[in-house]
Amino acid sequence: MKRIVVIGAGHVGFYVAERLSKKLRSDIKRGQVELMVIDPNQHMTYQPFLPEAAAGNISPRHGVVPLRQALKHCTIVTAGVTEIRHAERKLTIQPFTGPTREIEYDEVIIAPGSVSRPLPIPGLAEIAIGIKTMGEAIWLRNHVLQRFDIAATTDDPDVRRKALTFVTVGGGFAGAETLGELEDLTSTVVENYPEIDPSEIKWYLVEYADKIMPEVGPQMGAYAARQLTKRGVDIRLGTTLKSCEGGHVVLTDGEEFDSDTIIWTAGVMPNPLLKQTDLPIGPKGHLEANTRLQVATGVEAGTDQIGEVVEDAWGAGDSTQVPDTTDFPLPYCTPSAQHAVRQAAILADNVYRRHVGRELQPYKHKYIGSVAGLGLYKGVANTYGFKAKGLLAWLMHRGYHLSRVPGVGRKGRILADWIVGFFTKREMVQLGEIHAGREPFEAIAAGSDPVRAQKSAE
Ligand SMILES: Cc1cc2nc3c(=O)[nH]c(=O)nc-3n(C[C@H](O)[C@H](O)[C@H](O)COP(=O)(O)OP(=O)(O)OC[C@H]3O[C@@H](n4cnc5c(N)ncnc54)[C@H](O)[C@@H]3O)c2cc1C
Repeated sequence: MKRIVVIGAGHVGFYVAERLSKKLRSDIKRGQVELMVIDPNQHMTYQPFLPEAAAGNISPRHGVVPLRQALKHCTIVTAGVTEIRHAERKLTIQPFTGPTREIEYDEVIIAPGSVSRPLPIPGLAEIAIGIKTMGEAIWLRNHVLQRFDIAATTDDPDVRRKALTFVTVGGGFAGAETLGELEDLTSTVVENYPEIDPSEIKWYLVEYADKIMPEVGPQMGAYAARQLTKRGVDIRLGTTLKSCEGGHVVLTDGEEFDSDTIIWTAGVMPNPLLKQTDLPIGPKGHLEANTRLQVATGVEAGTDQIGEVVEDAWGAGDSTQVPDTTDFPLPYCTPSAQHAVRQAAILADNVYRRHVGRELQPYKHKYIGSVAGLGLYKGVANTYGFKAKGLLAWLMHRGYHLSRVPGVGRKGRILADWIVGFFTKREMVQLGEIHAGREPFEAIAAGSDPVRAQKSAE
C-alpha cells in the first residue's frame, strides 16, 4: 500500500485531502493507497471566522470542521508532527499521551501553516495573545467580557482603567478585523453595565507601518482607519510596542498606560516544524517550492522554473514560498486563504497527475484583493478593483466566507447563527470559568472555598 501523508489540516491540508480522496477513491477502497491526515487538532479551523467567533456572532464550534466527519476516506491522526526525515521517508509524531512515534510514508504534503511571530519585547510572552486558533478566539472573548465584571466590581480606579483598556498590535486584516469585531462587542455590552461609562472603554490599534489593512489597498485602508477612529479607536501609525511588562504598555511614540489585554497580530512566520526537517528552507524559514508545488531548490523568485525537485515532497500555503508569476509586486504568494485554497486544488491535482503519469500544472493566481468585516454591518472590500465600504462590504465579507467554509451543514449552522443574531440581542455571556474547570471541585475536595479557587485560577 502506498501511503500519502498530509501534514496539517488547515486551508491547504483540508482541501487537498478532500479533493485527493475523491480522485483516489477507488485506489483507497481497494487498499492500494492510504491518505493520512495529521493535525494536532481534530478539526480544520476556518481562520477568517475567528474574529466573528471572538465577538460571539457565530458559535466557535461552527467555525471549525471536524476532520473525521468531513474526510471519511482518510486516516485521521490527531497529533503534532515533530520531525520529518524525508531522506528516509519517515516522520515523527507526538500523540496526546505517551512517547513520540514514527510513521513511514511514500509521499508527503507539508502544510502546517504559520504561527504568530512574536518579537523579543519585554512582557509580550507573558501577557499577549495571538489570534490563530479557535481556542485563542474563545479565550479572548471570555477575557474581554470578564474585564467588564472586573471593572464593575472593583473600587480601585487603576484596576478599572487597566481592565477597560484594550490594545491590538498589528493593523493587517487579522488585527483590524479582530479589533473591529471586539470593539463593536464592547460598545454594545457596556449598555448592560450602568456602573461603566462608555467613554471609559479605550481601544488602541498600534501599527508599525504608515497605514492599516494593506490587503484592501490604500483607499479602502484609509476608509477603515477613518471608520475605526470615528468609533473612538486610537490608531497609532508608525508606532510599535516597546514593552508591556505586567501590563504596563510603553509605545515607541512615548505614550505609556496600563492594559490587561494585548492582542498580538503583528505578523506571522512559517511553522517552526520546518526547522526539524531535512528539506530545503528559504531565508525566511519557508519551505522552498516551485509553482508545481513540489518542494524544490534553485527556483528563482517570481518564475515558473522547476528547479531541483525533491521527489515525493509537496508544499503550499503559509509555510511555503511559492513563486508568484503574476505581475503582483511581490515575488512570492502572500500568506492568505485565497492562495491557500487555490494552491490546494492544484496540489491535489498534481499529486494525482503524477500518480497516473500526466504532466503537472503550474500554480498561477493573481491576488484579487480582500473583503473584511469591521463589526456588525460595517466592512471594507476591494476585489477585482471593485471597492465597497459599510453595509455592502460587510455583506460581501459574510457572503464570500459563507460560500467558502466547507460543508453544507456548516454553512447552515453559520447562517442560522447570523439570522438568530439579527433578531435577538447580542450574546454577552462569558464563560471564563472553563479556563479553570476543575478548580471548584478540587477546592471542595480540599475543604476550601470553590469560588475563591476558581476566580484566582482564572
Ligand atoms: C484572524 C485571521 C483572519 C484571516 N482572514 C483572512 C481573510 O479574510 N482572507 C484570506 O485570504 N486570508 C485570511 N487569513 C489568512 C488565512 O487564514 C491563512 O493564510 C491560511 O489559513 C493559510 O492556510 P494554511 O493551510 O497554510 O495554514 P493553516 O490554515 O493555518 O493550517 C495549518 C494547519 O497545520 C496544523 N499544524 C500546525 N502545526 C502542526 C504540526 N506540527 N503537525 C501537524 N499539523 C500541524 C494546524 O493545526 C492547522 O490545522 C486570516 C488569518 C487569520 C489568523
